[in-house]
Amino acid sequence: MGSPVKALIYCDRCADQIVSKDDLVTVLQWPGLVGAFHVRCYGERARGGNPARTPLNSQAVIWLMIVFSLLCLGGFLFYTPSLVWIILALIIPMLRLSSWLLIERKIS
Ligand SMILES: [Zn+2]
Repeated sequence: MGSPVKALIYCDRCADQIVSKDDLVTVLQWPGLVGAFHVRCYGERARGGNPARTPLNSQAVIWLMIVFSLLCLGGFLFYTPSLVWIILALIIPMLRLSSWLLIERKIS
């Protein structure tokens, strides 16, 4: 109702439109940075010999982000107060953010 027209997101495997966030898996890939798949297509792709990559929009990535940030904070506090730790800690959140910016926010 009056919402702006969303950009269409197509599955990188079967080229059909992805209409629901529940049916969306985003993974890190080149050259487009973030690839979008149907849940079903992601499963079939993972089985078809391609190495299964961790979906960016999964719970696992949230945990990875927390654990990795804590490790980097530890390195910063107890090893050496270097900017490198901050940059390392930001990598996963940045990837998560690009997944959202490029794909997820376009699907209502
Ligand atoms: Zn598909």
